[in-house]
Amino acid sequence: MTRVLVIDDSGTMRKIQKNVLTTLGVTEVVEAENGQEAILRMKEHQFDFKLVLCDWNMPIMDGITFLQKIRSVPQLKALPVVMVTTEGEKSKVVEAIQAGANGYIVKPFTPDSLKARLTEYLGTT
Ligand SMILES: [Mg+2]
Repeated sequence: MTRVLVIDDSGTMRKIQKNVLTTLGVTEVVEAENGQEAILRMKEHQFDFKLVLCDWNMPIMDGITFLQKIRSVPQLKALPVVMVTTEGEKSKVVEAIQAGANGYIVKPFTPDSLKARLTEYLGTT
């Protein structure tokens, strides 16, 4: 069983990511609309995720705040988190990496390019 968490306030974006993850052999995609909901979903699944894909700009709790929060929890320090965002400036990438992101994917992307990037993080599952 491979479970991945997709955090994005856009339902369309979550659906695109979910479809690509499914083609990569991910068996369960858990969705959240913002960082706060993501923390609840993580608790429900005992923090057992192979990968977390996280948008930056979201209401209630944005992606960088979510990332900083989970990295302050010892058991979540090694959880792979990839930012998936329109924030393409170098300073933003640096900020995310410093906050503990393992990867960075800039929107927009085609499903094929997303698939290629996610293979780097998931292997063939
Ligand atoms: Mg957003």
